[in-house]
Amino acid sequence: MNKNVQIKLFLGFILILLATVVMVSFASHYILTREFNDLIGDENFMRFREFDDLEEIHFFSSIKMTFALTALIGTVLASIASFVFSEYLTTPIKKVIDTTKRIAKGDYKTRVDVDSEDEIGELCKAVNKMAEGLEETEKLRRELVSNVAHELATPLTNISGYLEAMHDGTIKGEDLTKSTLKLLQDETSRLTLMVNDVRALSSVENPDIKLSQKHYELKPLTDEIVSTMKPKYEKKSLDLSIDIPDGFPKIFIDKDKFSQIIINLLSNSIAYTPKKGGIKISASDTDKFISVMVEDTGIGIPKKDLPHIFERFYRTDKSRSRKTGGTGVGLAIVKGLMEAHGGEVFAESEEGKGSKFTCRFAKM
Ligand code: ADP
Repeated sequence: MNKNVQIKLFLGFILILLATVVMVSFASHYILTREFNDLIGDENFMRFREFDDLEEIHFFSSIKMTFALTALIGTVLASIASFVFSEYLTTPIKKVIDTTKRIAKGDYKTRVDVDSEDEIGELCKAVNKMAEGLEETEKLRRELVSNVAHELATPLTNISGYLEAMHDGTIKGEDLTKSTLKLLQDETSRLTLMVNDVRALSSVENPDIKLSQKHYELKPLTDEIVSTMKPKYEKKSLDLSIDIPDGFPKIFIDKDKFSQIIINLLSNSIAYTPKKGGIKISASDTDKFISVMVEDTGIGIPKKDLPHIFERFYRTDKSRSRKTGGTGVGLAIVKGLMEAHGGEVFAESEEGKGSKFTCRFAKM
């Protein structure tokens, strides 16, 4: 089947070649005879008169022989060239077909070797790009499944352990039963939180995520978001300040998604800042961007963890051991939402001193 194009190309070239040989033979035969007759009839070319009939026949047959030989050698050479050229054209196409078949079978690591810059080279590059995308998606899918399984395993093991102990009578007495039920409740709340986070993460990572962006006044919007978090930061006696001047330029965002970004960052600052610490939300305006910063005087993030905190399910060792630690997807959601806005988020932090998260929105 995949030989078809090559055979068609080859036969196409041969057909053109035969047509050319036939046309040149006919044309040259008639033109040569006519010109020769003209010449011998012309008094300016008397020397042709020296030829007798036999010589003329010999002359014509040697010319025809030369033509035939030239046509034969030309045909052989052109056939070889057509074969090589059609092979050259179809080899990368065959490679593309083989590669896409392997991709379809799940081998996302496979690539086509490209060394040409023409349209076929472009096709090979496009196939390689598609394979890269699929490989990345497959990697993320595997990671997500294994992370979710890993994260769900701990609370499920705990729940099953408590239930088993209650069943076989290891946990007895009203107080013990009550405290165990509380632990069971905590574990199931954690499971619910995790499932909700994974759901939120998968919707954020959906490439078809839809934003409904409008221009908003930043200060009132931030006040509104912060007010919903009041009970949480007041419980820890944290000093929360908003440093956004009146008349600050409007920001072009999806209100709900923006709220989610700020809530996630604020929740972290509240969780990782010891009592009586401080949190500040500020904004800056440059030619191209509007940046919104959330900073705290909390425990900070170790240098080795800083490059990874936006990865899904990543938690620093310290936060892992904390009972209050989240599921490790809050910042991955922030990153996904910032990318959906065409912006970016980055973090600066010093252990023991605090952290600062900057969300940079392109100006519209
Ligand atoms: P989590 O749900 O665990 O908070 P996130 O994705 O929101 O997950 O954060 C990832 C990790 O980054 C956290 O577990 C924590 O170790 C660290 N981190 C995030 N924000 C802060 C902060 N403001 N201060 C200190 N550490 C932070």
